Amino acid sequence: MSTPVRVRFAPSPTGPLHPGGVRTALFNYLLARQTGGTFILRIEDTDQTRFVPGAEQFIIESLEWCGMKFDEGVHVGGPHGPYRQSERKAMYRQYADQLIAAGHAYYAFDTEEELEEMRERLKKANVASPQYNSITRVNMKNSLSLPADEVQRRLDAGDPYVIRFKMPRNEEVRVKDIIRSWVVVNTSQLDDKVLFKSDGMPTYHLANVVDDYLMKITHVIRGEEWLPSTPLHVLLYQAFGWEAVMPQFAHLPLLLKPDGDGKLSKRDGDRLGLPFYAINWTSPETGETTLGYRESGYFPEAYVNFLALLGWNPGDNREIFSLEELVQAFSLERVNKHGARYDFTKLNWFNQQYLRNRPHAELAEMVVPQVLAAGHMVDMDFLTEAIRLMNERMTLVGDFYKMSQYFFEAPTTYDEEVVAKRWKAPVPAFIEKLQAAFAGLNSWDAASCEAIFNETATAMELKPGQLMQAYRLAISGQGAGPAIFELTALLGRDQIVARLAAALNTLGHG
Ligand code: GLU
Repeated sequence: MSTPVRVRFAPSPTGPLHPGGVRTALFNYLLARQTGGTFILRIEDTDQTRFVPGAEQFIIESLEWCGMKFDEGVHVGGPHGPYRQSERKAMYRQYADQLIAAGHAYYAFDTEEELEEMRERLKKANVASPQYNSITRVNMKNSLSLPADEVQRRLDAGDPYVIRFKMPRNEEVRVKDIIRSWVVVNTSQLDDKVLFKSDGMPTYHLANVVDDYLMKITHVIRGEEWLPSTPLHVLLYQAFGWEAVMPQFAHLPLLLKPDGDGKLSKRDGDRLGLPFYAINWTSPETGETTLGYRESGYFPEAYVNFLALLGWNPGDNREIFSLEELVQAFSLERVNKHGARYDFTKLNWFNQQYLRNRPHAELAEMVVPQVLAAGHMVDMDFLTEAIRLMNERMTLVGDFYKMSQYFFEAPTTYDEEVVAKRWKAPVPAFIEKLQAAFAGLNSWDAASCEAIFNETATAMELKPGQLMQAYRLAISGQGAGPAIFELTALLGRDQIVARLAAALNTLGHG
C-alpha cells in the first residue's frame, strides 16, 4: 500500500453542495481509504458575505448519505482543529506578517473608489484585464509606493488596509498537477491578490494554504476551477519556505451539461424535471425545497457509483462498483482532464442495476409506506412476490405503487389502444371460456394456469400467443407488464375470475 495520504474536502458554505462537490469529496475519500490515510472536512467560511445558513449541515448530511465518513473535521473534531476557518481567524495574521517581513507582501490602503478609478484608467488605455500588479501598484497607495513614515502614520491612525501578495514581475511558475502534468504560468499574468482583508479575515488563498500546511495535507484534490489559483498557492509555499512539504495537486475535470455545451448547472436538472442535489435542499431565503436524490428514492450506492465514473475510469469496461470496490480500483492517474458529461439517464440506469440486485424482501419493506398510503393492507409475502415480478421494470423504489396498482385493486379503466386492437371476436368468447376453466381448475399456480390457458385456446382453435395481451388487459387494464401467469398465480383465483367477469361486463361480450 502506498503512503497514507492526508486529504481534505474544503467547501465554502455558500449554498447547497453541487454534484461536482460530492465527486470532489468522493475522490478525496477514495484515496484516503485506499492508502489508509485521513479524510478531513474543513469549512472555508472566510468570506462572510457569502455565508448561507444551513449549507454546512447540508454538506455533512449529503456526504453521510453517500457513505463517506470523515476522520477529522468540523463535526468530528481532531488534532488539527478547529476545522472551521472563521474559528481559526486569530491564527492567520502572523502568517501575513511573516510575508510582509520577508518582502513577499505589503499593505495597501486604496479605497474602493481609488481601485475603481484605476480600473477605469486602465480600461481607457485599452488594457485587457485591469489588475493590481507589479506595474500598476507603483501608482497606488501602498507600502511599496508610499514613504515609510506615511505608511507608519496610516497604520498608527488605524486607516483601513488590506495585505496583498507581491507578485514577482516576470517569473515562471511551474505547477505539477497529477492529472494535467506540468502547468507553466508567467507571473506577469497574475495580480497582487489580497491575502488579508480589512475586516481582519484572511482571504481564501491565504487561509487555504496556511491550513493545508498546518493540517499536513499531502494531496490537494479539487475542481478545475481552482487551477488558475494554484500558481499563487505554489508561490505562497515558496514565500513561506514550505516547498519541502508542499502538497501534490490534482485538479478534477469539470462536470458538463448532459447535452449541449457548458458547465452543468442546477437548471439542467430543472429542465429535465430531475433531482440535482444529493438530498433535499430548503433555501433559507425563499423557503422553497428542491428535491434531492435521497428523497426521490435513489440508492446512495448508485449515486456514488455514477459520480465515480464522471472523469475516472477503471481502465476496463467494468461499470458496477461498490464503495469498497472503488476504494480498491481508484487512482488519480486514471482521472482524465476532459470535462465529463453529467448524464442524468445514466444515473437512472445505475439505480436500476442496484435495484435488481437488492433482496426482494428488503425492497418489499421499502415499499410498505407506499402501499399503506394508498389505503391497502400489507401482506409481506404478497409484496415480496410483487417485487420479484416488478423489480426489473422499475427505476426507483418509489415507482413501485404507481406501476403496480393493479396488484392491489382491480382495474377500473382499460388501455383504450389495446382495447381497440385486441378486444374483438373471438377474444370475448375465449375470455368467457377461460373464466369458467379457471373457476374449475384444481391447482392454482403459474404452470397450471398457463396450461389451462393454452388448452382453452387450442380447443377453440386459437393461438395462445394472440390472446395473451387481451387477457393481460382484462386483469390489469394495461397492455404490458410482468410475467403474466406468475401475476395470475399471485393475484389468486377469486381475483382473476372476478376481473375477467368485470372486463367482459365493461368491454362487452363481443
Ligand atoms: N473553498 C474552496 C471551495 O469552495 C476550496 C478549494 C480547495 O479545495 O482548495 O471549493
